[in-house]
Amino acid sequence: MRHIFTTMLILTATTGHADAPRVVADIAPIHSLVAQVMEGVGQPDLIVPPGADAHHMALRPSDASTLSQADVVIWVGAELTPWLTDPLATLAPAAATLTLLDAPGWTPRTLPEDAGHATEAGHHHDYDPHAWLDPEVAMVWVGAIRDTLSTTDPDHATAYAANADRALRGLTALRKTIAADLAGLPGGTWIAPHAAFGYFENRFDLPSGGAISDSEAEDPGPAHLSDLRHRAEAGEITCVLSETNEPTRYADLLTDGTEARQGTIDDTGVTLTPGATLYADLLTGIAATLKGCIQP
Ligand SMILES: [Zn+2]
Repeated sequence: MRHIFTTMLILTATTGHADAPRVVADIAPIHSLVAQVMEGVGQPDLIVPPGADAHHMALRPSDASTLSQADVVIWVGAELTPWLTDPLATLAPAAATLTLLDAPGWTPRTLPEDAGHATEAGHHHDYDPHAWLDPEVAMVWVGAIRDTLSTTDPDHATAYAANADRALRGLTALRKTIAADLAGLPGGTWIAPHAAFGYFENRFDLPSGGAISDSEAEDPGPAHLSDLRHRAEAGEITCVLSETNEPTRYADLLTDGTEARQGTIDDTGVTLTPGATLYADLLTGIAATLKGCIQP
């Protein structure tokens, strides 16, 4: 009997699922980084499902239940998901919360003066929240995720540290691969569907020529569309991208009758399977899209 009991203890310790903390992440790329750090310990839950618009979503009843049971909540911050601020405060007041935009060790991009705008609640968002699209920021965030998990769940600190080290090596390799892939492509020639890729553009020295919608993915005005259309007609813009799985009406408007190509891109991995590998799949996909669309 004692032998069987010991065996059960060892199995529990090996798989580790019995006492893993309940961890909730906001969007799929963050969920992927958390899944990498938790590998062998447990699986995080995901709030924003694949295909949903992170900027404009409403919490589903099942998410409310998930949040209320969370030991740890890891999210980008209110600049990305303003609708999540109040539910976090009311449903998960006791959970350890890691707000990645506030994590030390990196510099958020400030939005241009006219790009941020007052929300319904009157808040002004000054920072571009799409920072996960820079793998070097993701490396800083992996460290913050490891530290938060280790503090909340010290029993698994060794596993979190080893997993984080492996994740950091993977991110370094990913950054180098993408940099080599995109080297030499002409900047300023492509239009993003919404202003989500600034961190990616800066990291890989491949600036866009603008975006159809702003960083909060609000609908564009006619003057802005007309300006982009003129630049496409003049041949300055050679690639206009739409959101994956969304209508191409703006891209059609900008490219019809011009030489400019179209493609699709997304910032959160709407068609990808959530999990540890999603982050690398997302960035590799963005790079492949840009290379295919921009290349003359
Ligand atoms: Zn976005």
